[in-house]
Amino acid sequence: MTDRAVRVRFAPSPTGYLHIGGARSALFNYLFARHHGGQFLLRIEDTDQKRFVADSVQDLMTNLRWLGLDWDEGPDVGGPYGPYTQTERAALYQQWANWLVDNGHAYHCYCSAERLEAMRAEQTANKQPPGYDRHCRHLSAAERSAIEAAGAPFIVRFATPRTGDTAVHDAVRGEMIFSNSTLDDVVLLKSDGLPTYHLAVVVDDHFMEISHILRADEWIASSPRHVLLYQAFGWEIPVMAHLPVILDPSGKGKMSKRKVRVGDKEYPVFVEELRSEGYLPEAVFNLLTNVGWSMGGDREVFTKEEAIAGFDLTGINAAPAALPYGKLEWLNGVYVRNLAPAELKRRLIPFLAAALNLDAATLAENPVLDILLVDVQERIKTLSEAAAMLDFALIEALPAYDSKLLIAKKLDAAASQQALSATRAALVSLGDLQDPEHVESTLRGLAETLHLSAGQLFGILRIAISGKPVTPPLFTSMKALGATTVLRRLDVALAKLAALNYFLSGVST
Ligand code: GLU
Repeated sequence: MTDRAVRVRFAPSPTGYLHIGGARSALFNYLFARHHGGQFLLRIEDTDQKRFVADSVQDLMTNLRWLGLDWDEGPDVGGPYGPYTQTERAALYQQWANWLVDNGHAYHCYCSAERLEAMRAEQTANKQPPGYDRHCRHLSAAERSAIEAAGAPFIVRFATPRTGDTAVHDAVRGEMIFSNSTLDDVVLLKSDGLPTYHLAVVVDDHFMEISHILRADEWIASSPRHVLLYQAFGWEIPVMAHLPVILDPSGKGKMSKRKVRVGDKEYPVFVEELRSEGYLPEAVFNLLTNVGWSMGGDREVFTKEEAIAGFDLTGINAAPAALPYGKLEWLNGVYVRNLAPAELKRRLIPFLAAALNLDAATLAENPVLDILLVDVQERIKTLSEAAAMLDFALIEALPAYDSKLLIAKKLDAAASQQALSATRAALVSLGDLQDPEHVESTLRGLAETLHLSAGQLFGILRIAISGKPVTPPLFTSMKALGATTVLRRLDVALAKLAALNYFLSGVST
C-alpha cells in the first residue's frame, strides 16, 4: 500500500459521452477521495486527436456534476498541478520521452507506415502474433545519425525488457504476473509530437502525485507497461485497483455500449439520457455504488454521505457485477418521494415545460402545480412521467377525447347526460370548489339521490374535466382547475353527450 496523501483521478478520453461505466469509475474515485479526505481530479486525456469528439468534454463535465461528482482540480477549476488537459502538457511528455531515450529505456523508430504494414501482413500470413519487430531498436549509433541527418521523421518506442516478468500489484485482484516476452515495444511518442496514452498517463499520474489509480478492468492489459515505465523512470508506482467488469443486467454478457434491456424495457447507458428520461442523480449515484462495491449487509439504499463514510477498497469485489437496472425505477421512486415538495417542483418544471410546451417561469407561478404536487409525488417513478399526469390541469384546452368515454358503466348517453347536468348544478351551488372533502360529500349525496354509484358519477365527471380515465385524485384535481374551468369543461362534455344522445337515438329509430 502507500502512505501518500490520497489523490485520485478520473481521466476520460473525450471520444464520446459519459457512459454509465465511466460514471462508475468516476464515482468510485470520488467516494475514495472523499472517504480519505483526499483530492479528486478530473484530467482530460485528449492525445488521440483522431477520435476527439468536440462536445464530449462539456458532456462529461455537465453530467459528472449532475451526478454530484465534483472535482477539486481539473481543466475548468484549475489547481496546482495543471494544466489538466493532456494536449496542453505536450512539452512535458517530450521531455520525459527524451529522458527515456537518453537513458537507454526508449529509442527512436523511423519505420515507415509501408514497412509496418508489410510487417503486419507477413505476421498475419505466418499466423504470428502482431507486434513491432524491433527493427530500429537494433540500429547502430552510426546508422541512427545517418538517418537523422537526412531529417527522417521518427516516433519514440519503449525498449521493453525481452525477458523476465512484470508483477502488477492490484489492490482488488492481488498480484498479477505478466511475461515481458508478451509485451511489444509500445509507442510512447507519436510523429505528431503527442504522447500515446501509456506515456501520458504515467507522466501525469506521477507529476500530479496520484496515490491510487482506480480504473476500469479494460486497462489491466496496459498495467504491466505502466509498471515498466515507472521502473524505468525510478518513480513510485501508485496503488492500482482495477474495478470489476460491469455486466448486462441479465448478468450474462458485458454491458452494451448503447442500450440495455431488462424484460421488455430498454434503458439508456449514457448519463445524459438517464437525466433526460427523468432519473434523479441521487438514484443513479446510489445505483452505481452497488455495482461492484458493497456496504456490507443487504443494504442497497443509502445516501451519498453514508456511501462516503463506508467506502473503501476492501469493499470492492473483483467478481464481475451486473448492472442492477431492474431496480433503477424503484430506486428513483424512493428518491422522488424523499424530495421536499419545493425541490420536486423545481426539478419537475423543466420536464413539464418541455413536454407540454409551456413557459418554465409561468409554470413556477402556477398554483395548479402546488395543489397537485403531493399526489404526483406519490405516483411517479421518474420526472418525465409527471407530464402525462398533469397535462389536463396545466393546459388551457383539453385535447379531443372520445365522447363515448363519458358514458358511465351500465348507463346510456341520455342518463349520463342527466347525471352530469345535475352535477353541474350542484357544483354551481357549491361555489369555488376549494374544499375537496366538501365537494366529494356533496357529490356522493347527489349520486345517492340519482340512484347511481359514486363510481359511475365520478367516472363521468373525471372524463369531463380531464378527458381521461386516470388522473390524480378527482376532487383535488377540481380544486386545482378551479370552478370556472371545471364548469367550462362540463359544458363541453354536456354538449358532447347531447350530440351522442341525438346521434345514438337517431340510429336506433
Ligand atoms: N483515458 C483513459 C480512458 O479513457 C484512462 C484510463 C486510466 O484511467 O488510466 O479511460
